[in-house]
Amino acid sequence: MEFKAPLSEIIRQTHDVKSFRFERPEDFGYKAGQYFFVSIPVNGEVQRKPFTISSSPTEKGFLEFTKKLTGHEFSNEFDAMDVGDVVVINGPYGRFTFEGEFDKIALISGGIGITPMVSICRYCSDTRSGTNIIILSSNKTAEDIAFRDELGEMENKNANLKIVHTLTRAGDDWLGCTGRICDTIIMDYIPDLMERVIYVCGPSAMMKATEELLLNMGVPKKQIKKEAFVGF
Ligand SMILES: Cc1cc2nc3c(=O)[nH]c(=O)nc-3n(C[C@H](O)[C@H](O)[C@H](O)COP(=O)(O)OP(=O)(O)OC[C@H]3O[C@@H](n4cnc5c(N)ncnc54)[C@H](O)[C@@H]3O)c2cc1C
Repeated sequence: MEFKAPLSEIIRQTHDVKSFRFERPEDFGYKAGQYFFVSIPVNGEVQRKPFTISSSPTEKGFLEFTKKLTGHEFSNEFDAMDVGDVVVINGPYGRFTFEGEFDKIALISGGIGITPMVSICRYCSDTRSGTNIIILSSNKTAEDIAFRDELGEMENKNANLKIVHTLTRAGDDWLGCTGRICDTIIMDYIPDLMERVIYVCGPSAMMKATEELLLNMGVPKKQIKKEAFVGF
């Protein structure tokens, strides 16, 4: 489905991440974890890029995606947008989805790769799903963690949700987990790894390293679902 979408709200998540919300057409259906294409004019030419839908299908009032602001031209156009500006949305696409079909999942993300995990968590919270979820999210610093407060609130309300943030450049005041995602961190926080379907999303190097790690730890390939933010 393709439609014109006026921006209804812009939410700053971190120093370089913003969420963009649009009115949701009544007939636009999607699954948690899917993405759509967003088109805008850049220097007189229409450019389109894929973005995960960070809202949940249960949120009827709006559609949301969340962009890392990279300082490049497409990104700068978005950073300069105001409520009322119109984009073209085309979608949904993708098989990195969750509809409540697994009893136990682990969501492993790097940086902005948290966006499909947010959609899945919002979906599980709204549907009061009994699925047990562990999120392992890696960022450089505490200031880089997008959706930290919202994820924390969902964790407080949902006994089936556990969130672990690990930082690769933690400040002295960080009391949580530190270091890149490795087998020790995975075994410490996801001891029942083999019983879970594992979703991995993030930069390509992180994805490759994490998949290798999981395979070496004995997780069957078919138990790992991946979404790479590259290739378009
Ligand atoms: C399925 C999927 C889902 C995705 N979901 C998300 C998401 O939820 N959030 C998100 O933030 N991203 C997501 N992405 C990535 C997204 O589509 C963009 O590729 C990404 O945000 C970078 O876009 P940009 O605005 O920097 O684009 P551009 O401005 O076009 O830059 C893209 C690349 O072009 C090069 N480039 C452009 N301009 C310059 C310049 N002036 N100098 C040097 N190099 C330059 C750089 O290599 C840059 O990384 C997703 C991708 C896929 C495939």
